[in-house]
Formats: sequence, C-alpha cells, structure tokens
Amino acid sequence: MFENLSERLGGVFDRLTKQGALSADDVKTALREVRVALLEADVSLPVVRSFIKSVESKATGSAVTKSITPGQQVVKIVHDELISVLSGDEGDDRLKVDTPPAPILMVGLQGSGKTTTTAKLAKRFKERDGKRVLMASLDVNRPAAMEQLAILGQQIGVDTLPIVKGEDPVAIAKRAKTQASLGGYDIYMLDTAGRLHIDAELIQQAADVRDVVNPRETLLVVDGLTGQDAVNVATEFDDKIGVSGVVLTRMDGDGRGGAALSMRAITGKPIRFVGLGEKLDAIETFEAERIAGRILG
Ligand code: GDP
Repeated sequence: MFENLSERLGGVFDRLTKQGALSADDVKTALREVRVALLEADVSLPVVRSFIKSVESKATGSAVTKSITPGQQVVKIVHDELISVLSGDEGDDRLKVDTPPAPILMVGLQGSGKTTTTAKLAKRFKERDGKRVLMASLDVNRPAAMEQLAILGQQIGVDTLPIVKGEDPVAIAKRAKTQASLGGYDIYMLDTAGRLHIDAELIQQAADVRDVVNPRETLLVVDGLTGQDAVNVATEFDDKIGVSGVVLTRMDGDGRGGAALSMRAITGKPIRFVGLGEKLDAIETFEAERIAGRILG
C-alpha cells in the first residue's frame, strides 16, 4: 500500500540532523520521494521535472519553523506549489453562458463520459442557475448515443432536440440553434460524436459544427484515469478545434489525479469540473486544493 508523502518524508528527515533551515542536500533527498509520489500519481515526466525544479529552488534555504518538522515543511512547499500550478480560473461561474441562447460544444472521445457530463451540466444549469437548457446529440453514427441523451433528458427534466433520422451533424446543430432561439432557451448544449481515437472525420465534424454555432464554450471531456493519454487527447483537440475548458471524469476512481496537474501544466487550459460518479448530480467544480491533496496521497 502507498504510504502518504508526509510519512515518507518523515522517514527521510529522521535520518538527517535537525537544522534551522533546509539544506540543499536535505531538499534533494526529500524531493526524490516527492518525485516518486508524483510519478505514482501519474503526472507526466516532463511536468514532474519542471515541478521538482521549481520546488527545489523554493525549498532550499527556507527556514524550518519550530512547530513543524522538516518533512512537513517540504510537504507544505510542495502542496502550495501544486495549488499554484493547478489553480486559475476554474468553476462554472467563469463559463461564458450569459447571452442567450449560449451554445456549448461538448467534445471528447467515446467512453470518456461526454454524454453523461452533458446531462450533469444541464441539470446543474437548470437547478443551480435556473437556466432553460436544450440538449442535442450530434452522434449520427450511433443512434444509441442519441437515444441515451434523450433518456437522460427525460430523467432530469431537460428538453432534448427531437431526433430526425438522416440528418447530418451540421444540420442538427443549425436546428438546435434555431430551436434554442425560438424556444427561448438560455443555453443549448451540443453533444458531438465520440470515437475511440481521434481521427480526421471526428475533428472535421466538430470543426464544422463549431463554425456554424460559434460556441461560447467548448468543453473537452476526458477520462481522468487515463493519465498521460488524457493530456495528449486535450492537446490534440485544442490544436485542432480549440478548447475553452476541460472536464475530468472518473475522479471518483482509483487514480490519484496526476492527470490534472499535467493537463494544467501542458495545455494551460482550465479544468472546470470533475466528474465523481455515474449519478447525474455527481459533478463538482474543480478545486485545486482537493486535487493537490489527492496527488500527495
Ligand atoms: P461517452 O461515450 O463519452 O458519451 O460516455 P458516457 O457518457 O456514455 O459514459 C460512459 C460510462 O462512464 C457510463 O457508464 C457513465 O455512467 C460512466 N461515467 C461518466 N462519468 C463518470 C464519472 O465521473 N465517474 C464514473 N465512475 N463513471 C462515469
């Protein structure tokens, strides 16, 4: 079983003589443990390297206060640095959905939790903000996905655009836009098609839809358990269609949340929400503090 970082570092420092300030050697020894902890949390190697470097310069020579041990001191510096890298403009209050009808484009790979997240967010907009939301599935290749969104809509009392067989994604998006205007909706959410891998057709479809509706937000849904893959997916989606924010799903799972740190450090995109289960209210705004705690174990 994984011991938490404080305990590990406690062990390291027990072997060192107590001094008034953290020496370069103390810090180096401690950071070896931190490095392992970050790698075990599935933070990508380049991010671990630059993170350790920055902590190293902050920790070396920093005074150790009487009330805490040197180990705790390093953990605190690491913790604070994690928060500073992770935090930014997260949270749904930052979503640009004020001018109705505001289009939100939902993108991501199949199985990432995109459709579930679309419904979770729609429910949240409705219950928390009193918004009228319309959802539409653009996944014309998978009728089951379209049905799934309609069923979720019924469960949460949010309208979905009626399914018309044979329509292409751009036509559906246009119809959603018109319906959202005529029907007085505040927000319309477009659940784009997912594939197992990013391919040219998937990207082209999302780009065509983007050009038609000019989304206020393009939210990328990624599986938080996939670690480095999640970051690669985000980089590619962002390069090709532009992403305004990220939703990390399955943060209720066994993963330690390292993907969040890599995501923020590599893509620079804010993580807006985390998915915490299959239920439709299992979504929360991203909190740097909580993820930092998880990464540190
Ligand atoms: P899509 O193919 O990307 O639209 O994925 P779905 O929305 O159909 O989700 C795939 C599966 O993941 C479903 O069984 C969801 O209930 C589940 N799921 C979605 N988000 C989460 C989450 O945050 N935590 C957990 N544990 N399961 C989730």
